[in-house]
Amino acid sequence: MKDRFSFPLYSWMIEQFKGDLPCTDDYEGLKQKAREMFLLQAFLLLRKTGQRRPPFDPFATGEQRRIHRITWVDSGDEASLVPDLEGFHLILRRPENISSEAELLKDVRVRSTVAHEVGHTFFFDISHFPPKQGPRFEHALASNVREKEEWWCFDFARKLLLPDRWIKKSVISHNFSGLELASKIRREYNVSWDILLRKLVYDLEMWATSTVFRLDFEDSQVILRNEYKDIWKGARTRIGRARPWLLENADFINGCVGRIENARNKSTEEIVARFVNPSEKYVAEFLPIYRDRPTLLCLVRESDGILDKYLT
Ligand SMILES: [Zn+2]
Repeated sequence: MKDRFSFPLYSWMIEQFKGDLPCTDDYEGLKQKAREMFLLQAFLLLRKTGQRRPPFDPFATGEQRRIHRITWVDSGDEASLVPDLEGFHLILRRPENISSEAELLKDVRVRSTVAHEVGHTFFFDISHFPPKQGPRFEHALASNVREKEEWWCFDFARKLLLPDRWIKKSVISHNFSGLELASKIRREYNVSWDILLRKLVYDLEMWATSTVFRLDFEDSQVILRNEYKDIWKGARTRIGRARPWLLENADFINGCVGRIENARNKSTEEIVARFVNPSEKYVAEFLPIYRDRPTLLCLVRESDGILDKYLT
């Protein structure tokens, strides 16, 4: 029973949802069910707040979870959830260059943050005021990051802003795929590329045999960043760990990190050729996006490997 004490996060969730969980001695099974119940709450909150169409509003779900007051600050943590006598006071850092309330509520980063914080409310007992926090679940003994509260809340945010059944429907109803579809979904659901790509690559395994990465244009250089969050690799194994075979083993990406000097004088094709070797086996697609600087989003996939699961 070492497990039960090593991962208080699961014990907490099992306690929260005990009425809905099966009676069983299979603690491993129970842990998974408890996690599923937690993620299901995102869908239930959408239903409770009558949300049937994207973009989904995390603020309305926050009210359901007793977030009764929001304050914007110009510095400090991105967000903090402060329990008080009426529920929670949510303090959010105002993104630079945004001042109007309407724009703040529509900002994709703010929306992700709020959806994530709504996830954190489930780690409090809200039957009392002020809500009482359970143990902090960043347990040092947790063997992988997915067993930390923080990661559960990222997963929760994706369920809230990009509910599986809507995304699958969106994918099935369009007979084109790849970045064009992703771009349409992103606008429709008003989410960041980061959260959408994680959804498509990791959660739905839609692009399981693909690699998505971005090229940043910086002055006269083009940079392929080898940061985890900027390269979304498919081909997940059954145990849920990303297997980076596309980038490391395939020959069509010329090295993981690269720079091109004098990029301004080169065409997109020339730039992309620096990173991707043409091959019959792979299809490469590119989409210019704008983040804090001009950026090219790239998807490299097996020419016949995409979307089979959803289109048949
Ligand atoms: Zn968090």
